[in-house]
Amino acid sequence: MSAEQHPEKVQQEIQYQSVSDFLESCPPNQLTHISDLSEYKHVSNVGYTDVMRTPEIQLHCGSDSCNGVRFFRCASGYGKRLKEDFEFIYVTYRCSNCQDNEKTFALAVKLDEDAKPTGELCKFGELPPFGPPTPPKLIKLIGPDRDDFLKGRRCENQGLGIGAFIYYRRVVENQKNRILTEIVKVSEKLSAPAEKIATLKKAIEETQFSNALNMAKDVIPESLLINGHSPIQLLHSALSEGVHALSDEQCLELAGSIRIVLSELSERLSQALKDEAELAKALSTLMNFKKEK
Ligand SMILES: [Zn+2]
Repeated sequence: MSAEQHPEKVQQEIQYQSVSDFLESCPPNQLTHISDLSEYKHVSNVGYTDVMRTPEIQLHCGSDSCNGVRFFRCASGYGKRLKEDFEFIYVTYRCSNCQDNEKTFALAVKLDEDAKPTGELCKFGELPPFGPPTPPKLIKLIGPDRDDFLKGRRCENQGLGIGAFIYYRRVVENQKNRILTEIVKVSEKLSAPAEKIATLKKAIEETQFSNALNMAKDVIPESLLINGHSPIQLLHSALSEGVHALSDEQCLELAGSIRIVLSELSERLSQALKDEAELAKALSTLMNFKKEK
């Protein structure tokens, strides 16, 4: 049954999320209906009552030993007694693997009248901020425009597509030469054909952004291609759309693609340089070994 046929049905239907889905993936400032908000538990000085469930959740942990998605368990703020009016609470989760990284949520929470365990939750915010992490390699690649990039990230996390698109475009435009210089470095290490390197260097000198990307897009070393596509070509097509011609949703989608391409590119650049450094070290070890013998 489609929304067009039964518009009134769509309005009435309440969408429920679980507590864990809400904590993991709901951006701040959205009042959300929760299917499994409460459980009936014993609380000291109170007796049996309805308290907020704080199940384990999965979040990205950025600590050196984890650096990936890990289970987080509630470390403080659990067992909060719930009412049918809003309560305002802090709940802190800690990574179960490194026992170090924490995430704190500021929440408004209330039970539905006579309908437990359902209720409503809203995040005022969370620290570290909501959203998948920005890889350190990407931050390094965009260098001085880090703050504008993170502003774009905040827009994207809140679903503000036009804002995210404009911030990301500004970052790529400002840092075009920094990105191309890294690509030249990799090309030189990989002994790419001289004319390709010359074209990349010409693209760095080209002041017209779109022309520069156009020049560089076809001379990218193979190890930097993303599923066979030139990352510069991908950025060029995403950024060539005028923002006035796009809806907020389209901008959001393009902004997400720009961010993913930039992360992938930063990952490949650093991997290519690392592989080369490791190879050089291995060769020098073997050469010296031979000499000593
Ligand atoms: Zn951890």
